Amino acid sequence: MTVHALVVAAGKGVRAGGDLPKQYHDINGRPLLRHAIEALLAHPAIDGVTVVINPDDRALYDAAVAGLSLPAPVQGGATRQLSVRAGLEALVVAAPDIVMVHDAARAFVPATVIDALMAAMADAATIGAVPALPVTDSLRHGHTYFDGSVDRDGLQRVQTPQAFRFAAILAAHRAAACGATDELGIALAAGLRVAVSPGDERAFKVTEPADFAKAAAMTAPSLTSRAATGFDVHRFGPGDHVWLCGIKVPHSHGLVGHSDADVGLHAITDALLGTIGAGDIGDHFPPSDVRWKGAASDQFLAHAASLVRAAGGHIDHVDLTIICERPKVGPYRPAMRDRIAAILGVDVSRVSVKATTTEGLGFTGRSEGMAAQAIASVRLPA
Ligand code: MG
Repeated sequence: MTVHALVVAAGKGVRAGGDLPKQYHDINGRPLLRHAIEALLAHPAIDGVTVVINPDDRALYDAAVAGLSLPAPVQGGATRQLSVRAGLEALVVAAPDIVMVHDAARAFVPATVIDALMAAMADAATIGAVPALPVTDSLRHGHTYFDGSVDRDGLQRVQTPQAFRFAAILAAHRAAACGATDELGIALAAGLRVAVSPGDERAFKVTEPADFAKAAAMTAPSLTSRAATGFDVHRFGPGDHVWLCGIKVPHSHGLVGHSDADVGLHAITDALLGTIGAGDIGDHFPPSDVRWKGAASDQFLAHAASLVRAAGGHIDHVDLTIICERPKVGPYRPAMRDRIAAILGVDVSRVSVKATTTEGLGFTGRSEGMAAQAIASVRLPA
């Protein structure tokens, strides 16, 4: 049994906003039409997909389906019915056993809807099957004022794709008067018996501007959380300031290091590198490389952030603890947070800087050096 899908994408569909027909609106990097086509191509029962387009949109169509192997698009007509008719006529030579006529704006049809259609069509006596959902809201009649009730029992909200024996729906179309809004209408007018098949809310029709946000939320890539830590130490030496979180802080000593010895930025850099398993700061900026002698450490952190972003990641939060007896961090904390946020390109609310002493214990307690530890939280594509 051969099954071919016919996607109707000839409409001007600008009610959803802008001059671009809605089927060509971008939803998470792909036009709505491409989402619709890919959902159909992904189903093993469907052998091929032909799209009916407005010839004015040919360039948009070509861009939307780039890389997909589809038959040439069919030029649509002045009405939806004429467009579908043109599509059906284009399939006459191939003559599939079943055609599924589908609206491009119902771009997110789950496989289960197509499974159910195929199950209904497996009965040779079934001429057509159409997905539908029962009406659950109360129905009342009225224009300015309510004037009556409607019995919702047996009422169905009709979706697509609508599956038919190809020969039967072609004949019904050829015989039909203009004006039907879908194949179900034409089939019923022709006296064909059409089965009710389970629909799905996810097969909603993108119509209003708010539907694009819903579509974007449905197709957003799934992200997984990662957290990683970083730790760094530098020894005190001669000097009158230290660099800490990109801020020059006056002090009785300096910090000794190949770069500017900014323990804060180094710890955060290692934490970020850890979230993507990209080694440590020494791998990226080896102390043996003269380029990094005395280097400002903001470039190390910016590089780590760029690697996270290149991996499709979002930096959710960084939290740093600076460990020393002196200098006092508190007065510089706001400037440090601002600087880290600016280097990372995130809002300052996503940056935390804390400080602690070690109560005179250990190397930090003896003021031989300074330590910092950080944790970074990111989200990465799953
Ligand atoms: Mg270091």
